[in-house]
Amino acid sequence: MIDIVALREQNENKPWLERTLFISGRLSLDFAQSGGEGEYKVFERLHTPEDLAAWLAMSELSLERAVASRTDVRLAHELRGALWRTANALRGSDAPLPKDIATINNMAATTPLVPVLDQYNVRKFWQQPVSAQSALATIARDAIELFSQRANLPIRQCAGAHCPLLFIDSSRPGKRKWCSMERCGNRAKIVKYRNQH
Ligand SMILES: [Zn+2]
Repeated sequence: MIDIVALREQNENKPWLERTLFISGRLSLDFAQSGGEGEYKVFERLHTPEDLAAWLAMSELSLERAVASRTDVRLAHELRGALWRTANALRGSDAPLPKDIATINNMAATTPLVPVLDQYNVRKFWQQPVSAQSALATIARDAIELFSQRANLPIRQCAGAHCPLLFIDSSRPGKRKWCSMERCGNRAKIVKYRNQH
């Protein structure tokens, strides 16, 4: 069984690069940034089925005991690539690739996680057993909800130099600039300070 508290603590003690992967404010965007292809391969978090299960436990799904296989890791990479390209295309008002839309739709069409209300403390949990594949379906559905807000898509890219991270700008004035203050925000402040003195 995965110890979520220990994992979270472990995550908090990790360098910013790994911690910032849960900064977007949206499940499907966080997932899109759990690693990548090409130049983003160095940020890969999902190497093994255990990695995938750990990510799902640390994510806002707080998924305990997810059963994951090598096939799930392959499907996760496939979905993640489609989410990343589609998010960036829509953010730049470009047309998303039909094959990426098909990947997201196919994944969303499988059985998602089933929420259950606990009778005693009225808390939500997931019907057991939970599979990584059903978590991927839930993530794909979250992406469909997000991407279909096309006219008012709240996806922004970090203003940090060379930082590709995406996030949902839910700040009141809609002026969030950074993936996270502790990463790019502070770095920009230091550069500004140095340039002024
Ligand atoms: Zn950034």
